[in-house]
Amino acid sequence: MGDASREILRKARQQVPEWSAAQVNDLANQPGTGPEGQDFVLVDVREKNEWLEGHIPGAVHVPRGYLELQIEEAVPDKETKVVLYCAGGTRSLMAGATLQQMGYTDVVSMSGGFGQWKARGFNFVQPRTMTDVQTKRYSRHMLVPEVGEAGQFKLLDSKVLLIGAGGLGAPALYYLAAAGVGTLGIIDADVVEESNLQRQIIHNTSRIGQYKAESAKQTIQDLNPDIKVVTYLERLDETNVAQIIADYDVIVDGTDNFPTRYLLNDAALIQGKPVVHGSVFRFEGQLTIFKPYDGPCYRCLYPEPPPPALAPSCAEAGVLGVLPGIIGLLQATETIKLLLGIGDPMVGRLLTYDALSGEFNELKLFRDPHCPACGENGHPEDLPTYADVCAI
Ligand SMILES: [Zn+2]
Repeated sequence: MGDASREILRKARQQVPEWSAAQVNDLANQPGTGPEGQDFVLVDVREKNEWLEGHIPGAVHVPRGYLELQIEEAVPDKETKVVLYCAGGTRSLMAGATLQQMGYTDVVSMSGGFGQWKARGFNFVQPRTMTDVQTKRYSRHMLVPEVGEAGQFKLLDSKVLLIGAGGLGAPALYYLAAAGVGTLGIIDADVVEESNLQRQIIHNTSRIGQYKAESAKQTIQDLNPDIKVVTYLERLDETNVAQIIADYDVIVDGTDNFPTRYLLNDAALIQGKPVVHGSVFRFEGQLTIFKPYDGPCYRCLYPEPPPPALAPSCAEAGVLGVLPGIIGLLQATETIKLLLGIGDPMVGRLLTYDALSGEFNELKLFRDPHCPACGENGHPEDLPTYADVCAI
């Protein structure tokens, strides 16, 4: 350190009070003070790499190089007590002198810095960081304030179960994997057939004859190796439904049969799991979210399945190949909104899309107080299940 630097430091020391790590720790642990109470603000002025290696809980990070530019956003009220720290106590002292010049009236520098804090055994946190690969992969999410790094971590920590890797499940899975939803469960007992490939884009010609769940897993892992894929090569039934859905935050219903919808509805109600529901028929698609005891459930709308003679046979139903892509991606979008807790989810709202007219419409849906599943006297555990009418 040269003479001029020493002189600046000497002056700063005369101007800026210094507190020991123990004094700062005492202040932080007083009831009504600290990051929650906002009686003072703890500001870490070190560089980003130092911050990422560990910092004091509740501190805000304003690197010394950006102090003049960012401090007024971090601490708008200049009467607030500001406790500054760096690694050893020198940079924070100089930062303190700068804040005083800027008009901050109660500035303290922590002597000995973070090194002393750690040496005294006081509490610190190490922020979670993304790998370089993740930072690049999810960079377009980072740029969206409603997602950002915190939202991306939420997605990476989330678990979503897809019932079926067919028309709706295939596009939903593909985009949920791309978005970085960390765990994707896929339950599907079927194998890929040629007639699936007109719409089930997660599969391909070389996978004909393979289990759909395994084929989807392969495509997902090629797209995004970050994602854990759990496959269930079985049909959802009353013996396995409770156990399978228990592991997941959100369920995406891509089934095309009534028995599974009722089975899933009742089990999801019991466990409080939201179900993002979609369906398609020829040129028409529908979407809603069944959120237990918040909006209506499937049985509020359809207490009983239609008699088998009236239910369209899946093999004969037919669908425009792109339509499940649209509805499946709306399901993926609603799933991400639920996981992030953003926006206005489609709970109690039914979106319909008519591909021929090119129109979207929305209907309000209401809970039925007499619903056999979620109504006042409802018993989702005691309701009948139904025989399988047809496969997906
Ligand atoms: Zn209901």
